[in-house]
Amino acid sequence: AQAGDSARPLRIIALANQKGGVGKTTTAINLGTALAAIGERVLIIDLDPQGNASTGLGIDRRQRRLSTYDVLAGEAPLAEAVQATAVPRLSLVPSTMDLLGLEMAMASAADRAQRLRRALEPLDRGEMPEDQRFTYVLIDCPPSLNLLTLNALAAAHAVLVPLQCEFFALEGLSQLLRTVEQVKGALNPRLAIQGVVLTMFDPRNNLSAQVVADVREFMGDKVYETMIPRNVRVSEAPSHGKPVLLYDLKCAGSQAYLRLASEVIQREGRLPAAA
Ligand code: ADP
Ligand code: MG
Repeated sequence: AQAGDSARPLRIIALANQKGGVGKTTTAINLGTALAAIGERVLIIDLDPQGNASTGLGIDRRQRRLSTYDVLAGEAPLAEAVQATAVPRLSLVPSTMDLLGLEMAMASAADRAQRLRRALEPLDRGEMPEDQRFTYVLIDCPPSLNLLTLNALAAAHAVLVPLQCEFFALEGLSQLLRTVEQVKGALNPRLAIQGVVLTMFDPRNNLSAQVVADVREFMGDKVYETMIPRNVRVSEAPSHGKPVLLYDLKCAGSQAYLRLASEVIQREGRLPAAA
């Protein structure tokens, strides 16, 4: 099958939440891996200068020859910055600390919020090399509503918001939703809220259950049925440079990310890809 197939249109999803530590990177890596496991061709774009998605996928600093900085600065085409990972059908554009300087470097560029969108256009037009015809692009955003996150929102079809099941989960969500509306009005009319995914859920904790109830009341059916449980295997996997699905397929975290992947596909009304 080919991308650009009308049956398998490209979906660009930004994982965004200006709070740190809520599970953006973990979800990018593991939802990406789960989608690849069920036959999708996935590209993860690491847009956080911390580079946790790159490290978590086993691409260490020496291997990051070309990065998202080079792509956004217009110094390399996307296709050249894409790297294969140990996961079949899952590729990555890694990030480096250089990204910290991007905002300064592009301060006077009129198109500075649309660099990623431009860079992804060859994907939309099906102009990528054969092995880079992706069906999903997941953008791992930094923990801030800065120029990098704006680039992600301007490029995406939809935003997936990871929310940690803790007391302040909803704090900041209204501001994120307002930003999404602003980007939609000014830069990217197609932008939608894909959904909210609850992470680090602890069934033994009453507070977790209360947070789930509050979020479901506030966001309604935008909240995914699948919740990602707090699971030690999920937090161990990145130090081995592996998605949890490769580290321990049977653990509760891996199984939850597989369920999330099918829910994402189902909600979009897409048929499963043939793996
Ligand atoms: P963000 O990208 O939003 O800053 P991360 O995905 O890096 O958040 O997650 C923050 C921390 O929580 C990391 O140390 C990660 O390993 C851990 N973590 C994320 N999801 C889980 C989970 N389901 N169970 C246990 N630990 C998790
Ligand atoms: Mg992160």
